[in-house]
Amino acid sequence: MSGARTGKAIIIGGSLGGLFAAGCLRRIGWEVEVCEKTSDDLASRGAGLGTHDEIFAVLEHLGIEVDEDIGVPIRRRYVMERDGSCSLSLDVSQRQSSWAWFYNRLKDILPARHYHFNAQLARIAQDDRGVTAILADGRRLQGDLLVGADGIRSTVRAQFAPRAQPQFSGYVAWRGMIPEAAFPPALHAQLFDRYVFCLPEGEMMLAYPVPGAGGDTRPGHRGYNFVWYHPIGREDALAKLCTDARGHCHGTAIAPPLIRPEEIANMRAIGRAKFAAPVAEMLDLTAQPFFQAIFDLESPTMVFGRVALLGDAAFVARPHVGMGVTKAALDAYELANRLADRATLDEALGAYDESQSRFGQAIVQWARHIGVHLEAQLKPREQRTAEELHHQPEKVLRQVGARISEIPPLAGFTALPRSSGKVQTWVAGDAL
Ligand SMILES: Cc1cc2nc3c(=O)[nH]c(=O)nc-3n(C[C@H](O)[C@H](O)[C@H](O)COP(=O)(O)OP(=O)(O)OC[C@H]3O[C@@H](n4cnc5c(N)ncnc54)[C@H](O)[C@@H]3O)c2cc1C
Repeated sequence: MSGARTGKAIIIGGSLGGLFAAGCLRRIGWEVEVCEKTSDDLASRGAGLGTHDEIFAVLEHLGIEVDEDIGVPIRRRYVMERDGSCSLSLDVSQRQSSWAWFYNRLKDILPARHYHFNAQLARIAQDDRGVTAILADGRRLQGDLLVGADGIRSTVRAQFAPRAQPQFSGYVAWRGMIPEAAFPPALHAQLFDRYVFCLPEGEMMLAYPVPGAGGDTRPGHRGYNFVWYHPIGREDALAKLCTDARGHCHGTAIAPPLIRPEEIANMRAIGRAKFAAPVAEMLDLTAQPFFQAIFDLESPTMVFGRVALLGDAAFVARPHVGMGVTKAALDAYELANRLADRATLDEALGAYDESQSRFGQAIVQWARHIGVHLEAQLKPREQRTAEELHHQPEKVLRQVGARISEIPPLAGFTALPRSSGKVQTWVAGDAL
């Protein structure tokens, strides 16, 4: 294969991974075309999003200004017991941003003519001279490189590594966001400014302030987000949860309005039984709760000839690490760096595969480790290890969404980008 210095990349997937890839590749002189299968703007669909220093560094590298507007600051984490008391707290300075903030900023730096909605990849053809993306409507786009940034159910990965399938963890994350204005004053005073963890046996609830609609970070206009990891059982239990009132099963995910009301009522009842009153009240206030099944995914390789996987298409770590977007950004940054500094496409993609596969495997394992107590709920009690039996609240407080440099299996990754430090994210101090 020929040189790697410049060329044209076809990027499949116009979410954050695809947009980071477009930005990083354009920065080294590549032409890009982004193909997104949906027909509408994705900005309205995201929710809260944890941040890491490294993602700020990649944004700055792309010329996107990172300032206080990026999210809501949080300074302390609390464990709230069933009776409402605080059993543990830890100073952690972190910023919760919004998916829409990233999507809008990244889309703004890409000329609209290079972003194509209604462009669904069907299959790929490639040879020594180039790669062709064949779209579902018959259009063909040619390039030197194809980037598969098409998420956990990647069409690109399905063509080249069909056996790499997402593995269900046995638990889901119930999620929701309540506008700050909807909080009764008493509940606001008890909860709103806090990053609260509730850790009764077998559950993990996190709740924290995030930017409101349109990324608004002004007091009074923010939102309060919760992510409640709740074990449900194996695939058959997930299929039941994803079945609508007419009996149709939607696979492993279901649109929020189609979730059966009895499932939502049941979720709220469990919340009332297990969590402190303010947290249960918050669940009741949530107009449209939804859930996301938690999967692990590891692709055996990230490169197939002229095709490179990136972000969730290659590795999906459980959201305990809060790193879906950061990992996609780092993949994009590394891909562009290797293309810029290696003589051939083969060499560049080989180096990319080597470093990002190691990173992906390490982060998937680490996230699985944080969720070990939740997953173990599916085993008989007597078969659980000491670590699986009980939460270790202090570890949970330190490990969830921790800084990359604080995560032991990632300590060897020295090539991570550094931000200017204008927006500080983490001062937890001690090692994990
Ligand atoms: C609408 C949306 C909202 C999200 N909200 C949040 C959030 O609030 N908080 C958070 O932490 N994470 C969120 N995520 C996940 C987070 O964005 C990802 O972890 C991160 O973007 C890295 O994933 P990715 O870009 O690799 O894949 P994804 O974000 O899953 O994007 C894959 C994209 O590929 C497109 N696609 C799939 N198949 C094809 C095909 N055959 N042809 C063309 N396009 C295709 C999909 O429509 C999608 O836009 C969201 C993802 C999406 C799609």
